[in-house]
Amino acid sequence: SAQTTFANLRKDFPILQRIVRDNKTLVYLDNASTTQKPNQVIDAITDYYRNHNANIHRAVYALAEEATELYESTRDKIANFIHISNREEIIFVRGTTEAINLVAYAWGRNHIQKDDIIVTTEYEHHSNIVPWQLLTQEKGAKLVYIGMDDNGELILDDLDKYLATGKVKLVTFSLMSNVLGTITDAEKIISKCKEHGVLTLVDGAQAVPHMPVNIEKLGCDFFAFSGHKMLGPTGIGVLWVRKSVLETMNPFHGGGDMIREVHKYETTWNDLPYKFEAGTPNIADVIGLGTAIDYLTKLGMENIREHEIELTKYAIEKLSQVKGLTIYGTKDISKRGGVISFNFSDVHPHDVAQIIDEEGIAVRSGHHCAQVLMERLNVAATSRASFYIYNTKEEVDSLITALTKVARIFKL
Ligand code: PMP
Repeated sequence: SAQTTFANLRKDFPILQRIVRDNKTLVYLDNASTTQKPNQVIDAITDYYRNHNANIHRAVYALAEEATELYESTRDKIANFIHISNREEIIFVRGTTEAINLVAYAWGRNHIQKDDIIVTTEYEHHSNIVPWQLLTQEKGAKLVYIGMDDNGELILDDLDKYLATGKVKLVTFSLMSNVLGTITDAEKIISKCKEHGVLTLVDGAQAVPHMPVNIEKLGCDFFAFSGHKMLGPTGIGVLWVRKSVLETMNPFHGGGDMIREVHKYETTWNDLPYKFEAGTPNIADVIGLGTAIDYLTKLGMENIREHEIELTKYAIEKLSQVKGLTIYGTKDISKRGGVISFNFSDVHPHDVAQIIDEEGIAVRSGHHCAQVLMERLNVAATSRASFYIYNTKEEVDSLITALTKVARIFKL
């Protein structure tokens, strides 16, 4: 059954055997920041360096062919994984941050003009706010926010209001909030935008690792995600752009591999997607990401979502019983993922994190790169527990037990 599959996979993750602090077994609950890596991914990366290392696309010798084949096969795996039919639309980048900056630069620079409007939301990660501030400030354009209700859901009336101005050029939002776990009603937003001929960018950093995502069905124009949040290595991510839009974009970086011909004063561009992949790419980590996708595909994204729903339901139930503890966002499990932000009475989240760290429990505390959202929630910071495929109900119990220690210390 799916249950046993999930129980057995912990052995694939060497780090989960780690002893930390005072002889405590690691309980890793910071998966919204980054996930741990299975042996399969670690081995794929070292196998590349041990046996296939060469630069890709250029040379004709055997190793270069092998490296190119390994690198390019990941592009096909991604196409299958996020359901798109055209591999030319997939651009390898460093992560979600670079993906969004690429769009702001290579699309935004020649599509955004004075008085245009870009719409984002109150629960975005800084990487889906700051690039748009830079662009709108440079162009004399305007950045506006879809508000969030007290349940942690977006107020779509705001979007209607903005769209009615006829000035909106782009609507950008995360498919899942990295603080509240809210799953955005993306299909509704995108269909509204389409009615007005407005492009949409989806930040999939928190969604792609945790639930099935079908870009063809979503119908957005830009989609970004990071490999390290889905068992893959750091330093590799994906930007997908609809071909008709990609064809209107200028290059991001200039250099090798992105050109067809370079003359003293002019250059012609390589085919898609290579026009947007200048220089020697992160070959090893692309290969590692391909292996991570194999691992997730074998488990099944539906099963992963089910596993996390069970854990999250259990955790919310247990946390709700802790006196003085506030959980942010919706408790409706169908509308959220396995990211739980909370505050414990008036104890600072850093103190909470530090005390439970003594028990070996790793949770994040702070603003989670979402200060606009912190302002909206009227808090400086939260504690955040976030789950992945290898987490168990026993680990949730450990978290609850550790929180009773916080209550004892602070006499709550
Ligand atoms: N968007 C969201 C929703 C995220 O959770 C994160 C990572 N915390 C990012 C963007 C940025 O991703 P990266 O740091 O991998 O570029």
